[in-house]
Amino acid sequence: MIDFQHILTSINEAASNEKDKGKIADYIPELAKVNVDNFGIHLIDIQQHNFSAGKSDEQFSIQSISKVLSLSMALGLIGEKVWKRVDVEPSGDPFNHLSLLELENGIPRNPLINPGAIVIADILVSQLKNPKEDFLNYVRNIANDDTIDYDIDVAQSEKRTGFRNFAAANLLKSYGNLKNDVDVVLDFYFHQCSLAMNCVQLTNTFFMFMNNGKCRRNNTFLTVSQVKRINAIMLTCGFYDEAGEFAFEVGLPGKSGVGGGIVAFLPNKFCVSTWSPGLNPKGNSKLGMLALEKLTTETELSIF
Ligand code: GLU
Repeated sequence: MIDFQHILTSINEAASNEKDKGKIADYIPELAKVNVDNFGIHLIDIQQHNFSAGKSDEQFSIQSISKVLSLSMALGLIGEKVWKRVDVEPSGDPFNHLSLLELENGIPRNPLINPGAIVIADILVSQLKNPKEDFLNYVRNIANDDTIDYDIDVAQSEKRTGFRNFAAANLLKSYGNLKNDVDVVLDFYFHQCSLAMNCVQLTNTFFMFMNNGKCRRNNTFLTVSQVKRINAIMLTCGFYDEAGEFAFEVGLPGKSGVGGGIVAFLPNKFCVSTWSPGLNPKGNSKLGMLALEKLTTETELSIF
C-alpha cells in the first residue's frame, strides 16, 4: 500500500526549500499579484481517498487548464464534428504562436493551444443559450461544487492585454473558422480561462478523466471513447512545447496553465494537482513539474 500522504508531505517540504521557484506570468497583469512562494498539492485516488499538503485549499487562476473542460463540453454537444475545425497534432510551439495557423489555413493544430481553444469557445458560443452561465454550470456540476466561479478581475485584465488572442481570433475569422463576433468569443474565452479553483477542486473536476468519463458521483459526462481522445490530447499537447519533456519526466496525461496549476492523472488509479505560480521558460509551473516527477518516481506509478 503506497503512503501517498508521506510522499506529498515530503514533496511539499522539498518545494519550500527550493531557492529558484520560477517566474510568475505577468503578461496578464492580475496574475502578477500572486506570491511566488505558494505551493499546494492534492491527490484523490479512485476510491476517493484524499491526500493534501501545502496550500491545497487556496484558489488560483486555472487558465489553460480550462481548455480541457471547454473541449469536453463541445465534444459532448457536437461530437466528432469538432475535429473538422481543429486538429489533434502537437504544435511544438508556444501556446500563443500564430505562424502555424497561417500555414495550415486557419485550422489550429490542437484544441489546447490558444487558437484551438478559441475555436472551441466559438463552438460553445454557437451552441449554448447563455454561454458563460451554461459553461460555469457544466463545470460546477462535474465538480459537484457550486462555489466554483470566474474571477472577473482576471478576465477583465486579460481582456485589456490579450492582444495576441485578438490577433489569433481575427486570423481565424479571416479563414472562416470563427462563426461568431471576435469580441463575443473572446469575452467567453477570457472568462473560461479566469475560472478560479484550488488543488482539491481541480482534482474533483478532473476525476472524470481518470474514471472513464464518470464524475465522483458516478454520473457520465463523456463516453469512454471521448475520454480516450481527450486524454490522448492532454498527453501529447497538454504542456505547451514541453509535452515530450513532461511525458519523459512524469509519464502522465495532464494539463498546465500559466496561473501555475497542473493537473495530471493515472487512469483508474489517481488524479493529482499541484499549484506553484512560478513558471519555467516553457510556461509550465517549475516546482509543479518537479513535484510530479518526484511523485511518479517514488510511487513507480505512471502510464508507462
Ligand atoms: N488565458 C491565457 C491566454 O490565453 C491562457 C494561457 C495559458 O494558461 O496557457 O494567454
